[in-house]
Amino acid sequence: MKKIIIIGGGPGGYVAAIKAAQMGAEVHLIENIKLGGTCLNVGCIPTKALLHTGDFYEKAKAGGIPGVAVRDVSLDWPAAQREKDQITNRLVNGVTGLLKANKIQVHFGTARLISPNTVEVSGEGSLTADAVIVASGSEPVPLNFPGADLPQVIDSTQALSLERVPKSMVIIGGGVIGVEFGSLYHSLGVRVTIVEMLDEVLPPLDRQVASRMHQLLAEQGIGLYTSARLLSVKAENGIDLTEKAENETVLAEIEHGGETVQLECEKVLVAAGRRPRTKDLGLEALGIQIERGAILTDGNFETTAKGVFAVGDCNGQLMLAHAASAQGEAAVEYILTGKHHYNKNIIPSCVYAKPEIAAVGLTEEQAKRQGIDYQCGVFQLSGNGKSMIEGESSGFIKIIADAGLGEVIGAHMIGPRVTEMIGELAVAMTMEGGVEEIIRTIHAHPTVSEAISEAAQAVFGNSIHWPPKR
Ligand code: FAD
Repeated sequence: MKKIIIIGGGPGGYVAAIKAAQMGAEVHLIENIKLGGTCLNVGCIPTKALLHTGDFYEKAKAGGIPGVAVRDVSLDWPAAQREKDQITNRLVNGVTGLLKANKIQVHFGTARLISPNTVEVSGEGSLTADAVIVASGSEPVPLNFPGADLPQVIDSTQALSLERVPKSMVIIGGGVIGVEFGSLYHSLGVRVTIVEMLDEVLPPLDRQVASRMHQLLAEQGIGLYTSARLLSVKAENGIDLTEKAENETVLAEIEHGGETVQLECEKVLVAAGRRPRTKDLGLEALGIQIERGAILTDGNFETTAKGVFAVGDCNGQLMLAHAASAQGEAAVEYILTGKHHYNKNIIPSCVYAKPEIAAVGLTEEQAKRQGIDYQCGVFQLSGNGKSMIEGESSGFIKIIADAGLGEVIGAHMIGPRVTEMIGELAVAMTMEGGVEEIIRTIHAHPTVSEAISEAAQAVFGNSIHWPPKR
């Protein structure tokens, strides 16, 4: 029986552990904080739990929906926090139960590699195995600016557990995490301003989607400064803030268009990205190569030390929970069978803002850069009944197809529930399906997903529910 040691109990590590146990290996999983990792404890799940609360609160605060009047609305923030914590704890307990049911030996301690097949666990001694999978995750990138250590300056983990909802927040970074927190706190009635260094928010997304999101955030009343950077955070009247209470307002000073702009706020959330967690794991001593802060791996997730693998955020390839899990499964498959099924080109990514965004495959800009002969079909959700009913018809579905075979090479959506719909396009791409197959697939009515079929038709020129192009 092969023995595998896994360092880290996040979605990369715990999924790898279960997969390995299912495939007959003896598995040891080492975790030094909490099972579930960033995703369950301070990432994907708690953010979405609070976004759910924010969504209801915002609708109720606006008086309900047409036909349903809601009065005397108030936010019970401690109850929202309790609900978020309960959901998180239920899921962490679920993972604990699954690991136990799969007879995985869990060690609580800090792991350090002392040879390619030996891992030292703090307070326990060492373990040996046939292979080691490092799934140590990532941590927020700290920014160095005057005022960075003030209590008003927080990171995403602190932003999930604030004691009270502030009146105003400046968010540094208009990436996925910044935009999600912006949407969350805006829905809770906070005056939110996002500051982004590049010329548009959500830089890795298809530009057409990012531009629409930018426009919609501005229409919702979220302040946006792009091509701007944070200079400092300081007290309003030059008071020494280290002496002051946590709820004192501060001035976030930013540079924008050659001028210094001062933004008064109660909290400054630094959401300027995350970096792989690679420190103190004993990697360098084993000659494991780190490139731009991330553990370098080959296509099988094997590092430069034979038998040592790295999956998830720590290899810096794609910082998403489902990518970490898929990589964990792939590494295990490779260790135990010599092959795996991971396809790095078909990994959906989602932004849980208002409206939601979901994408898979190439953006139009990437298709252009790669010199692919492609065609695009776009269907506006203003022509989709279900989106109208949901009260969110300002988005669109965009499909990018290879001009020769019509194979789908990318899909980008902005609209209600699109995070639930992107799987259809991922399946189509995995099956090397084309727009023809999507059009021939009869979509249920009324659904937002009908618009996928309409976007596929638009690749050939005309959708049914949109006036013909002249
Ligand atoms: P992690 O989840 O970080 O787990 C690593 C684990 O390893 C940790 O528990 C850590 O304690 C442990 N560890 C580290 N070093 C050691 C050591 N030496 N010894 C023992 N244990 C160790 N992704 C999505 O796909 N969808 C989302 O909606 C989403 N939302 C997010 C929202 C926020 C606010 C944040 C911060 C992240 C979000 N992410 C989201 C990203 C997602 O959380 C990560 O991509 C995912 O958790 C990575 O999984 P991982 O297993 O690689 O690392």
